[in-house]
Amino acid sequence: MTEKNQPELSKLCVHSITTKPWSLTESVEKFQAAGVAGISVWQDAAKAIGLKEAKTLLANSDLDVVSYVRGGFFPHANLEHRQKAIDNNKQLIDEAAEIGAPLLVLVCGAEPKQLLSESRKQIQEGIEAILPYAESNNIKLGIEPLHPMYADTRSAIVNMAQANDMAEKIAHDLVGVVIDVYHLWWDDQLESEIQRCGKHDNIFAFHTCDWNVPTTDMLRDRGLMGEGAIPARQIREWVEAAGFNGCIEVEIFSNHFWSKDQDEYLMQIIEAYKNYA
Ligand code: ZN
Repeated sequence: MTEKNQPELSKLCVHSITTKPWSLTESVEKFQAAGVAGISVWQDAAKAIGLKEAKTLLANSDLDVVSYVRGGFFPHANLEHRQKAIDNNKQLIDEAAEIGAPLLVLVCGAEPKQLLSESRKQIQEGIEAILPYAESNNIKLGIEPLHPMYADTRSAIVNMAQANDMAEKIAHDLVGVVIDVYHLWWDDQLESEIQRCGKHDNIFAFHTCDWNVPTTDMLRDRGLMGEGAIPARQIREWVEAAGFNGCIEVEIFSNHFWSKDQDEYLMQIIEAYKNYA
């Protein structure tokens, strides 16, 4: 018997990267059996089993497909590379549509050889260039601000204010913001910027996890909610007070957890979600 319909899990989404050692097939099966409501799909997990297979798998599951991850990486010093990024993002929009994901998450990118302001300009141009394509496929585009430690190559958008500015400048129903506690928890303007984002109906997704103390790897040492420095539940309350009522998505990149038994880990995720998310 599954634990489906546990009301307390009705908003829990787990990102496929969180249980990276599992294939997408295993993740779907195990998440459903545990009563998880939704899944976000990392492109590598979908491609490993083939997009057609991923589409069938997800369509036949009870899981909500929350997002496809990740597009973006628009800035580059060289025009030809910027065009390549645009083409690649169109391809990712096709893939999101194929697997039935309504949202493509954008890790917007940065070019270390130029000013961050120039990179942000190129991000805006990139999003505007793919917008007609997103429109024709009805795929939303979510700007995910990343922690400033990634401002060298991963994102010139490093706080909510910049993400809000960008979404409001583009001003399109299909362009909004993905709020991830890992990247944003330190910002003293976070609550007010979340309110601003909600006022524009721009909160497209919410990611949660924790910041380990100390953090030993910039990429793959995120913690389970409740383990570290992030007030995950407080931030969730701000996001929900701003009008968001979508899934609470657990997204944990962690060499530590990936080396563990994934069945036990999934139970830990559920406990952490109930107690701290
Ligand atoms: Zn995230």
